[in-house]
Amino acid sequence: MENILFLAFTEADGTLHKAALEVLGAVKELGGTLTVGLAGAQVQPAADTLANCGAVKFLAVAGPEFSQPRYATDAAAAEAICRAAGSAIVIVPSNSRSSRVMPGVAHRLGGQIDTHITCVAVDGTLNATRWYYRQRMEAVVERVKRPWILLLESGCHAAYDGAAGSATVEALAVPPSDAYQRTQVTGIRAPKSDQQTIRPDAKLLFVAGAGWTKKQGDGQIHGPEAEQLILGFLGKAGASLGGSKSLVDQSGEGEPILGFMTHLNQIGQTGATPRHPKGLATCCHGEEPHVVGWRFVNERRAVNLDPNCGWARGKADVLYVADAFEVMRKVNALLAEKAGSAKA
Ligand SMILES: Cc1cc2nc3c(=O)[nH]c(=O)nc-3n(C[C@H](O)[C@H](O)[C@H](O)COP(=O)(O)OP(=O)(O)OC[C@H]3O[C@@H](n4cnc5c(N)ncnc54)[C@H](O)[C@@H]3O)c2cc1C
Repeated sequence: MENILFLAFTEADGTLHKAALEVLGAVKELGGTLTVGLAGAQVQPAADTLANCGAVKFLAVAGPEFSQPRYATDAAAAEAICRAAGSAIVIVPSNSRSSRVMPGVAHRLGGQIDTHITCVAVDGTLNATRWYYRQRMEAVVERVKRPWILLLESGCHAAYDGAAGSATVEALAVPPSDAYQRTQVTGIRAPKSDQQTIRPDAKLLFVAGAGWTKKQGDGQIHGPEAEQLILGFLGKAGASLGGSKSLVDQSGEGEPILGFMTHLNQIGQTGATPRHPKGLATCCHGEEPHVVGWRFVNERRAVNLDPNCGWARGKADVLYVADAFEVMRKVNALLAEKAGSAKA
């Protein structure tokens, strides 16, 4: 196996995110001589965590100017580490910071990069697996060009959990540049955590379909109650929220109903294909272009008034033929009861 550089940006406190440890777990299985490269405001906590990972050396670019995810500093740090390591293969945890900067680093090094890799393996030579065409086709890629940089996705491998120790880190100097100060991160604007409905790590994907906004048995639309039931469930269960195309298109048109639903929540052929152990679809018909986005959800259940809906045709493990308003009212009451008795 060729020499490998595992390269990661550290968190603000100098540690590594779990996703980075997952990538190291995958790297360790490849064999070959391993170098660890770290960049960030501080790196020693991360290096100590990896002290016994079998790396022959630890290279780092550290300092306050490398704390912010800024292209100029991140590219300079990553380039310096790659050059010092001289490894043929560079494997990097995929996140917004590395995805922005590593293609430029590959260009500077005269190498090649592949992103959204889900698996790396050695079969004579290194190969990498990734999905194409909205996860409909899986390809195994090999390249002759070196250095070959691979951005490995999270959630695809068990995290490295070797014993911590004390690592000796070789600090690399990056020449100062005015460009490093040109961009300043002045703050982060993000939705409040209780409004953050997309939670990739959640055990359950809760999907709302257009039925929530349709006239119900009494001839009325029950938008506010639908909103309250869905948000209530998400808050209590910590579930991630998905939507059908019909529903998210409605919200996009400025309909007052389910205003928290955006196109980012859409699951399906033209939406997302999230990975959750379980999924529950409510008021959603279960048409193929929607269900295709469920292929990585292991256990699927659906609530629909229509016993002949798409889910009934082998697309769900369990279909509850029931009124989702009634079901979710009851589920929320049970969750509230459970939370109450846990507190008492
Ligand atoms: C090229 C193409 C790409 C597409 N991509 C996507 C995609 O990425 N994602 C996607 O979702 N769709 C996609 N679609 C659209 C898809 O075919 C469906 O039109 C869409 O998924 C339907 O959404 P829905 O099931 O929420 O709505 P509807 O079809 O309107 O179904 C609503 C359901 O709610 C049920 N219901 C109503 N009230 C209740 C109640 N009280 N309790 C229980 N059930 C109730 C009804 O029985 C009905 O089954 C695509 C279509 C095309 C042509």
